[in-house]
Amino acid sequence: MSSYKREHLDAIASMEDMHSHKEQIDRQKRARETKCTPLSVDKENRKGTFRSSRGKPYSTNVISEFTYNCTCKDFGMRGLPCKHIYRLWHEFDIFSLDKIQSHEIEISEAETFNVELKIDFSMKTLEVLAKFGFFSLDEIGYEFEPIDAGFDPIFLKELSETEQKELYDLLNLWINRSAANEWVYEKGEVNCQKLIDCGFLEIIDMPEKLLKMKNISELRVPLKEAGLKGFPTKESVIQALLKLNPNAADDMKQQYIVVRFQTKWEEIRGKIRTYLKNKLPRKEKEILPGDMGEREESWAHFIS
Ligand SMILES: [Zn+2]
Repeated sequence: MSSYKREHLDAIASMEDMHSHKEQIDRQKRARETKCTPLSVDKENRKGTFRSSRGKPYSTNVISEFTYNCTCKDFGMRGLPCKHIYRLWHEFDIFSLDKIQSHEIEISEAETFNVELKIDFSMKTLEVLAKFGFFSLDEIGYEFEPIDAGFDPIFLKELSETEQKELYDLLNLWINRSAANEWVYEKGEVNCQKLIDCGFLEIIDMPEKLLKMKNISELRVPLKEAGLKGFPTKESVIQALLKLNPNAADDMKQQYIVVRFQTKWEEIRGKIRTYLKNKLPRKEKEILPGDMGEREESWAHFIS
């Protein structure tokens, strides 16, 4: 697995021939692939552009073997030649990609992302991390493409960017963090309302979810008044409370609603999420392989 630690990268950079390091060879191999064909090449000014799954093409400059840069994520994180730089060097006869041995192994992994990746086994760990949503493979220069390239979710076109962000965050939580498919919103919250109107979310009657937002001592008051004792957990308090008074959450229902995704979305939720991930602008904060504990910032407006 590639490491992004400064010392590790410095060690590669100070090698007598950094291009012989396996992580660099790996990028040279990918530089030869058809999908790494430049969109444009400006030989005179020694620059070129490459397709990016984010929309805006990467632009790459290779003044010499020693002066180069690229706007892709891989270069941004490592500061060492990325596949785009190798490809341009090759195009400009600065560095030849003809002699690299090719022993790629094809791994077909369609379970979560519906993607087909051509990667080395050394990338297996990164792939697993990516599957769990810590970062996407294209951020480190490994692009993935949906097998179903014709996936054109017309139903998303009805949503504004803000509503799509809301949808993305909910899907992400639902898929990645095994969050239950239940969300509390303030009544009349606009993004939520639109997702209901478009048939993504449906309102459910779930007083226990609403009561969970109150603190346990407040929930215990009616039980104490009724002489009931001995409920150690919040869940048990809520259950007892609802038995005592099925309308215990009615005051909260004035202010909040509980929603969930309609079950029909479960089958293609991963596909929609991948689509939105590629389409929506990136968030400010980035999750690197080293910061797995950090949480991504959220766009979402749900309360609990
Ligand atoms: Zn690059």
